[in-house]
Amino acid sequence: MRFSRPRGTQDILPPEIYLWRRVEGAFEATFERYGYEPVRTPIFESTDVFLRSVGEATDIVSKEMYTFLDRGGRSITLRPENTAAVIRAYLENGLHRRGGVSRLCYTGPMFRYDRPQAGRYRQFHQVGVEAIGSMSPILDVETIDVVVTALESLGFSGLTVKLNSVGCSVCRTPYTAILRRELERLSGRLCEDCVARTEKNPMRVFDCKRCVEVKNELPPISEHLCSDCAAHFASVKSHLDSLGRRYDVDPRLVRGLDYYTRTTFEILHGSLGAQNALCGGGRYDDLVEQCGGPPTPAVGFSAGLERIISVLPDGSGAAHLTESGPDFYLVCLDDSSAERALLAARTLRAFGKVEVDPSMRALKTQLRQAEKRGARVAVIVESASPRHVKWKDMSKREQFDVEDERLLEFAKKNFNDQAGR
Ligand code: AMP
Repeated sequence: MRFSRPRGTQDILPPEIYLWRRVEGAFEATFERYGYEPVRTPIFESTDVFLRSVGEATDIVSKEMYTFLDRGGRSITLRPENTAAVIRAYLENGLHRRGGVSRLCYTGPMFRYDRPQAGRYRQFHQVGVEAIGSMSPILDVETIDVVVTALESLGFSGLTVKLNSVGCSVCRTPYTAILRRELERLSGRLCEDCVARTEKNPMRVFDCKRCVEVKNELPPISEHLCSDCAAHFASVKSHLDSLGRRYDVDPRLVRGLDYYTRTTFEILHGSLGAQNALCGGGRYDDLVEQCGGPPTPAVGFSAGLERIISVLPDGSGAAHLTESGPDFYLVCLDDSSAERALLAARTLRAFGKVEVDPSMRALKTQLRQAEKRGARVAVIVESASPRHVKWKDMSKREQFDVEDERLLEFAKKNFNDQAGR
């Protein structure tokens, strides 16, 4: 019987896994330089964590969550995104009592029951940050800057940053009424989902992939911002200008999650086709309070690793990212030498990567394997020479007899490993 992985998931294997590490490492290094501290939260949460925050009328909650009852009858959901979970953890662990801005970052798998296609999976991976505790537009700009900087460190250039403001509860109430009236007028041209959205949550119409033409006729929120939101948006734009970060204002960018307030943004990559967003984010000033905490403004982003890796520029060194072969290949020719081989391997691990060949096959076969693995040195142990190992330099084709007891000394003198240990 053969098993296969569930639809919409991937096995990430060598050598591709090294690309993943490289990309995750670039984000982690950039996050650290901006003062973001890593957090790890569970990959499943109480369903309510997402229902209340992401919003019941969103596609994520209404169609895409992996929700099940556990054996104790609790409703559990595999996290479809991480902002709500990080805020749950922030409150549950009292981080809000530290004062100032909490800068948190994460990497990990997310789950959405979506139709699998290029760039869209059911298990995918996001890196992201949450900057919690300030209204300042400086933080909106920082979250955009940190992700663009991380992407640039991977060789990306010419990315498009789409920017909008979706206002706050003050400007949204009158705007929603205006929007609802317009949608009712145009209802004959709306899909059935959008007819339902008109009543429940009219701004979600801007997410619809079917009602594209109608969307362009609707009044954008950006024309109905209250004076505070308008000033905040102006400030975000002017700080981005000062940093030389280019952006395109897209008045209809609302993003697929309900918790956003004021700034929303997406970073697009031209060659990705329909699923062209590498990253999405924005401000969510009401979420902490909605989750039972004190009023606490916040802003963040998350970026999809599968999409980033699929369009990684050649210049990022991607081509050379296969893990290098072992420094030492331990060739053992008979059972009675196994103990010596294991001890030699332990000694040599102080100098580099050691692979032990457990096959006991013929010398020639094992040396061929050492070559294939790209080993720098093959160390041969056999009962025919009970006190010596053979040290075979694979590139220089030199060979030495080295006494078991002197292996450490010999390696020290003759092996400069790449790490320069
Ligand atoms: P969101 O959490 O919907 O704001 O998405 C943020 C980013 O996560 C997107 O820009 C994508 O890069 C990535 N993403 C979202 N959904 C998926 C998915 N189903 N498969 C792969 N990547 C995704």
